[in-house]
Amino acid sequence: MKVIIVGGVAGGASCAARLRRLDERSEILMVERGPYLSYANCGLPYHVGGVIEKESSLLVADANTFRSQFAVDARTSCEAIAVSTEKKTVDLRNVATGEVTTEPYDKLVLSPGAPSVRPPLPGIDLPGIFQVRTVPDARAIREWIEKGTPFLSGMHRYSGFQTVRPKTRAVVVGGGFIGLETAENLVHRGFEVTLIEMLDQVLAPLDREMARIVEGYVERHGIRLALNDGVAGFKPAEGGAIEVETKSGKIHPADIVILALSVRPDTTLAKMAGLTIGERGGIRVDDEMRTSNPDIFAVGDAVEVKDFVTGEWALIALAGPANRQGRIAADVIAGRSSRFRGSQGTSIIGLFGASAAWTGASEKTLNRIGDTDYEKIYLYPNSHAGYYPGAKPIAMKVLFRQSDGRLLGAQALGVDGVDKRISALAMALQMGATVYDLEEAELCYAPQFGSAKDPVNFVGMVAADVLRGDMPISHWDSAKGEFILDVREPFELAVETIPGAVNIPLGQLRARLKELPRDRDIHVICRSGQRAYMATRILLQNGFRARDVSGGMLSLAHNGVLVASADAA
Ligand SMILES: Cc1cc2nc3c(=O)[nH]c(=O)nc-3n(C[C@H](O)[C@H](O)[C@H](O)COP(=O)(O)OP(=O)(O)OC[C@H]3O[C@@H](n4cnc5c(N)ncnc54)[C@H](O)[C@@H]3O)c2cc1C
Repeated sequence: MKVIIVGGVAGGASCAARLRRLDERSEILMVERGPYLSYANCGLPYHVGGVIEKESSLLVADANTFRSQFAVDARTSCEAIAVSTEKKTVDLRNVATGEVTTEPYDKLVLSPGAPSVRPPLPGIDLPGIFQVRTVPDARAIREWIEKGTPFLSGMHRYSGFQTVRPKTRAVVVGGGFIGLETAENLVHRGFEVTLIEMLDQVLAPLDREMARIVEGYVERHGIRLALNDGVAGFKPAEGGAIEVETKSGKIHPADIVILALSVRPDTTLAKMAGLTIGERGGIRVDDEMRTSNPDIFAVGDAVEVKDFVTGEWALIALAGPANRQGRIAADVIAGRSSRFRGSQGTSIIGLFGASAAWTGASEKTLNRIGDTDYEKIYLYPNSHAGYYPGAKPIAMKVLFRQSDGRLLGAQALGVDGVDKRISALAMALQMGATVYDLEEAELCYAPQFGSAKDPVNFVGMVAADVLRGDMPISHWDSAKGEFILDVREPFELAVETIPGAVNIPLGQLRARLKELPRDRDIHVICRSGQRAYMATRILLQNGFRARDVSGGMLSLAHNGVLVASADAA
């Protein structure tokens, strides 16, 4: 059997290596248009920033490794330019010489990825405008930065006089994870960075109020955000600089521009082969990664996947799914039973020492598809036991089914312990766990790592309390204008108060129940929701209608914007 794999990075290289491990006899040809195979594109922003200093560190395996270790005929600078499904052949073009050869296949695997979108904006081809997609892209950015800006046209250094000034202003277009990571790295390199994003938030998979926390954090670390604004075009400016003009008419001067807009599945060959393209514009595959042609498989960023929670077709450009899909395609080609379960979009981004991570459905996704059978909680547990030095709060939002408690999605932000909580929740979600399962999860604990009740257990306990009716909750948008009972201590009110709220500190509550109404809902707040929970329990057992405002004052800090804007509307 001869297998041709198109694309030699995440999905393609995984497929080739797995197939060889399963089948010593098949002939495997892997072609890659670019100069490198199996490189770490996820590390590119860090190479731009100098965190990963050596370019060679990004190169995981080269053609020789594939040939010697895996007996894979791996060819770089070799582009697949045509597919004939009738003859079962692929035409290959040597990028250096232009020579075209034709190779037959029994099975074909497409892993061509999803190139960055490069809209035809005026001036987009000006020097100094880059994308971060490949190793040569990162190299070009580093060279541009290191070159500086010459004072005199055409001269970088002259007669020993310094005629170069450093480039200092960067504009990053796109607030997804590649844009933000690159922006952070440019800040580390001393740039003043402006990030332009067309949406009203960064990191689109996050719910808006959670993205607000990220936005505040990156702004405090020096990234200027221009949200709700698209780029209209680029103009050359003095000294080789660029003026980035936005749709709102603003001008952002830059010495370097990084385009990190969305990506679009590469379906060129798939269309040529007459394969079905799905409604989201990706190659349609089944759960064995088989396309509409039984001898052609497709994996990675180029394919549409089933969203694990919603069941919708989705485009999810992530390395984990691409690697798993490559492996699954290899399994199936080798005659094994292997199926892709769908993607949850589990992701993480590190920014200035903090991280934001998420898995599963967001609230806005559930709203978009009209799914109302859900509840959400906000909580702020410590990353590890509070008595052990260095504990830091994790801001969490978790969504679960109201009808049966099934976990639907989770988002978390913080400077410590975010990754393992979202990873644990992602695993739970994929296993179909409920919040009742999370209550029972047995997780590792010593004070420097977690708490006897880990944040993951907390999620389960809080959510299960809500579902069992032990802790009715409300949220800021519904609590606004209602009877609000603030159970914080008076000294805490010096920081922030809610106008009209009645303050009875938790310790006095039992003695002052007469001050509270019995004919209306009492929305109870404290700093994070924990004391409000105890107060809610006291009130419920004394016949009051009480609700814990989820996340308390901490969730107001990021939900507040929404409440304010709802008022204004
Ligand atoms: C800067 C950056 C940072 C990222 N960070 C993360 C991260 O932190 N976490 C994460 O999960 N994901 C991250 N990703 C996404 C992840 O890298 C991709 O999801 C993954 O690489 C997709 O694998 P793939 O095989 O589908 O495509 P790719 O890895 O892009 O490989 C496709 C290859 O196919 C080649 N090709 C295309 N057409 C042809 C043809 N006709 N002939 C020959 N070769 C062809 C292309 O040259 C390309 O090299 C990042 C991506 C980038 C660019």
